[in-house]
Amino acid sequence: MEVTRLYPEKIMDLPDAERGVHVLEIRKCIGCGACARICPNDCIKLVAYSRGNPVKNKKLQYPQIDYGRCMFCGLCVDDCPASCLIMSKQFEISGWNREDIIYDPEDIAVGLYSDQELAELAEEARKAEEEKKRKAAEAAKAKKEKAAKAADEGDKGSGEKAAKKKKAE
Ligand code: SF4
Ligand code: SF4
Repeated sequence: MEVTRLYPEKIMDLPDAERGVHVLEIRKCIGCGACARICPNDCIKLVAYSRGNPVKNKKLQYPQIDYGRCMFCGLCVDDCPASCLIMSKQFEISGWNREDIIYDPEDIAVGLYSDQELAELAEEARKAEEEKKRKAAEAAKAKKEKAAKAADEGDKGSGEKAAKKKKAE
């Protein structure tokens, strides 16, 4: 039986359940922050990353992971509602200082959008935002009109009451 291996020339077969560096499926991430909230070691922070989907993830915020703190428990993966955070078998993490092992979204993202796709998504997000504003303005106008009508009817009602009272006297 082979016990000692000449790492890194020879790497042992890793088990299926191996938990290594995260992989972020950028097209699915909604930026909800559930991964950051559940992390017991507080090693996930949501940071800006411009090459995401502004329709799905309006603030374009994606996880950044500090591997100096990560204990590879997998809770962040289990809690992700979009199932877009997974753990790869990549276990080699090294750097000259702590900052080198803080991985930004661009370091762990897969399924990146092309420039054309990003332009189309930006346009889609702009239209959706415009539509949202238009609907909000319409709702505000309708509310104002309703309030004015109610006030008008109230004035009319009290006027009629006063006239009736005067007649009775
Ligand atoms: S990776 Fe998952 S849990 Fe984390 S922000 Fe994205 S969608 Fe939310
Ligand atoms: S694997 Fe565990 S410790 Fe590492 S980022 Fe996810 S929740 Fe935090």
